[in-house]
Amino acid sequence: MRFITNGMLGKLTRWLRMLGHDVEYSGSLDDDKLIDRAKTEKRILLTRDLRLCQRAITQGANAFLVDGDTGTRKLAQLSKRFNFKLEIDVEISRCPKCNASIESVPIEKVIDRIPKATILYHNEFWKCPSCEQIYWRGSHWKRIEKTLREAKEML
Ligand SMILES: [Zn+2]
Repeated sequence: MRFITNGMLGKLTRWLRMLGHDVEYSGSLDDDKLIDRAKTEKRILLTRDLRLCQRAITQGANAFLVDGDTGTRKLAQLSKRFNFKLEIDVEISRCPKCNASIESVPIEKVIDRIPKATILYHNEFWKCPSCEQIYWRGSHWKRIEKTLREAKEML
């Protein structure tokens, strides 16, 4: 799905990108430009700002008020509303930092850019073609899966 987020939703933005959604994030666009962008790029505006949400809807944009108090609750709320799975499929994941689609890379291509211990324990790597960030299912992966599991339990 295509979203646009603002202000306080940086963390949620990264989660949605990992889940494979195309999410533009803007910390600087004013409300009018944000609504404009949502309309022209056919993105759903996600915001915690009730007034902005109402204005966007009045102006014909697709908008949704995110009101969960924790990251886990926000994910559960969105997956319920937009009917998407809370599972990460790296084939469609996007770079949490910049929103480009990440690509699988052979270990030879990243070997000089990752810690030695990582090479011993991992053999699957992904790279962002835009910001060059390298990803693997490291120790943080368990936390990611735990969060998604907890979010699913809330549904
Ligand atoms: Zn990137």
